[in-house]
Amino acid sequence: MRAGVFSSLTLVLAAASAVLGRDDYDYCSNTCLSVASSGSWGCTSYDGNDYQICLCSSEAAIETFALCSDTYCSGGWGVWSSYCSSYAGIKMDDFDTVLAAAKAADPLSYDNISLLTVGTEPYTMPQSEFETMLNTNIAFYQSRLFGELYGAATMIFLFGIFFLAFVKRIINLVIPKTAVINSPFVARLRKWFIVPAAFCTTHTAPLKIFGVGYAMMPTRGQTLMVVSVMIMNFIFLFVRYNIFNNNYYWPDEEYYQVVRYFSDRSGIMAFVQIPVLILFAGRNNFLMWLTGWSYETYMVYHRWVARIMFFNAVIHSIGYTAYVLFAGSASLAESFEETYWRWGVVATVFGGVIMFQAMYFLRHRWYETFLVLHIVFVIIFIVGIWYHCVTLGYMEYVYASIAIWGFDRVVRFIRMSSFGFNCPAQVKLVGDVLMLEIKAQGLKWSDGPGKYAYIYFWKFNFWENHPFSLVERRGDTYIFAAKAKDGLTKKVFKYVASQADQSALMSVMVEGPYGESFQVEPFGTVLLIAGGIGVTAMYPYAKKLANLQIPGQHIILHWICHSDDTVKSLLSEMKGLSGTGVEVHVHVTTGKVDDLLTSSDSEKDEKTSNDDASGLSSLVSIGRPELDQLISSTIANADKSVAVAVCGPDSMNDTCRRSTANHLVGPHHVEYFEEAFAWA
Ligand SMILES: Cc1cc2nc3c(=O)[nH]c(=O)nc-3n(C[C@H](O)[C@H](O)[C@H](O)COP(=O)(O)OP(=O)(O)OC[C@H]3O[C@@H](n4cnc5c(N)ncnc54)[C@H](O)[C@@H]3O)c2cc1C
Repeated sequence: MRAGVFSSLTLVLAAASAVLGRDDYDYCSNTCLSVASSGSWGCTSYDGNDYQICLCSSEAAIETFALCSDTYCSGGWGVWSSYCSSYAGIKMDDFDTVLAAAKAADPLSYDNISLLTVGTEPYTMPQSEFETMLNTNIAFYQSRLFGELYGAATMIFLFGIFFLAFVKRIINLVIPKTAVINSPFVARLRKWFIVPAAFCTTHTAPLKIFGVGYAMMPTRGQTLMVVSVMIMNFIFLFVRYNIFNNNYYWPDEEYYQVVRYFSDRSGIMAFVQIPVLILFAGRNNFLMWLTGWSYETYMVYHRWVARIMFFNAVIHSIGYTAYVLFAGSASLAESFEETYWRWGVVATVFGGVIMFQAMYFLRHRWYETFLVLHIVFVIIFIVGIWYHCVTLGYMEYVYASIAIWGFDRVVRFIRMSSFGFNCPAQVKLVGDVLMLEIKAQGLKWSDGPGKYAYIYFWKFNFWENHPFSLVERRGDTYIFAAKAKDGLTKKVFKYVASQADQSALMSVMVEGPYGESFQVEPFGTVLLIAGGIGVTAMYPYAKKLANLQIPGQHIILHWICHSDDTVKSLLSEMKGLSGTGVEVHVHVTTGKVDDLLTSSDSEKDEKTSNDDASGLSSLVSIGRPELDQLISSTIANADKSVAVAVCGPDSMNDTCRRSTANHLVGPHHVEYFEEAFAWA
């Protein structure tokens, strides 16, 4: 069984190795490269490409390579030539010319290497020495190769899950009935292992200590994925090393081989993980488009892959420090003189700084400051890994990281510019909500549930951008509703509130659309629960389903607000919905609703008629609904599948998640969808 698992893994890795293009590594010629590097050619500086330039400029070194290649390998000049041209920028003569010169130079044997005159005489390597060197090279190279493959395997595992999610999504979209199949086994799996928050009862709300939030708890499904990656990562750090006594570099020093290989492995695995964690952080992460999973979900993976990557980087740094202290030919102080070493230290230190500054408390409390510092520190980190590796190799991961980051920025720019850099926005205060009516200047995208955009206000901190759900589109006008928090939204709120009619024409930039829609259409009952301004995310679902008029579908919308002030913002939309067959319940948890029923504040109505008021009174009630009871009774009363979709404050989301998870196993399929208005 174990052998089977291992050989399957080896097969996968062999395939991955072919993909990476590392399978054609020429061990023989690279051993000749080591042979040529073993001579005393006076190449002592390792700074930048100094060593390669020195080696490739030494006629004796070049001839030593040619002799070795001629004796032990067929061909191989390409390895040497490309080494010299890419690292030293030096073009080689053709092989035959060099070989003829080498033979004419009457080469010494390696046994007599002590007779070499620095930089002048080529030598040949006896077979036994060459074989030791070859075996050493194979062990050395393969330990690194497995670092790359194992690093990739940890990420391929995640991509495998994303692929399954993608396949499921496609099947559900093509054959919608499959989205509501009730399988008791799958329902149990989802109830126990996927949907609830791991360990605790909160997922959207932070874990707190003395009332202060310190961390966010992933769902069980997310935790399983993250823990699997951690376990894989840990195992992969320890397997597949070829340690042997007769090692050319470390004869009789197996301990040093272990330290060196282990340090290489951890560093390489960290490197492979960097582009992926950058991909997860992007707004234009193609995986979101494929899987339909939210940005918030990918932020969970971003953070955890970053932690795993940093763990590997720390192991790498500690390992190399130990190696230099105990086994290296250079001292620690001398190592610090090397560019690659210094920048490696910079990268690890800034990796640590990023880990610290990105902790929940700091990023949540001072989000904008966190974001700016995060970007600055990540740039320093990337510069660090660039200079760390520019002479060591593995630059493809650095390029990939930069390319992924650059792609995200370019697409952001395209999104902004296509909608219009300078769009007029009529911003009105309705109750305690800012209603934004933004006119698109260029490309118009369609509205629909799940869509949101980042809005920039030219008047206030124009570089700041905040996500808001698209409520609806009316022609070329896009409607958003924003509740004031403590930062930018508060500034806009204060400004608009100070205007004569609590309305202002502002200039904004819109970066969108983002977001994927939950597939609620196939469900028999769709229970939409919105808390406060979370209605902006739930209303478009109700509107879309109302328009679709799917036979037999029961749509229920519960909007729970702290005060009637918030309700005023979308009151006419609620009335509109209730007229189209959606069961609308507006709950005002504190205060009175008389004002709401009689005033003419309502945005669309100049005067609320008696009819309207009586219509409204059937929608609006005072008090807080018991969410657990509401969800369980809706599921119990449903005669078909049920979708529970929620967007509200942290604690509301968590209550709904918990309660729906408890009802996943039953006569009908039940699905839980959540939109969180926070990922920081
Ligand atoms: C997908 C999505 C859709 C949203 N839709 C709406 C909506 O329709 N209406 C609405 O009123 N609110 C919505 N929000 C919430 C809104 O983005 C925040 O309230 C707003 O960013 C707070 O800005 P601030 O500077 O005033 O907040 P602050 O008081 O400075 O911060 C409050 C909290 O908001 C979060 N936050 C702040 N800035 C950002 C940012 N740039 N990106 C992500 N999170 C941030 C952080 O968790 C922070 O701790 C949505 C959020 C998300 C993620």
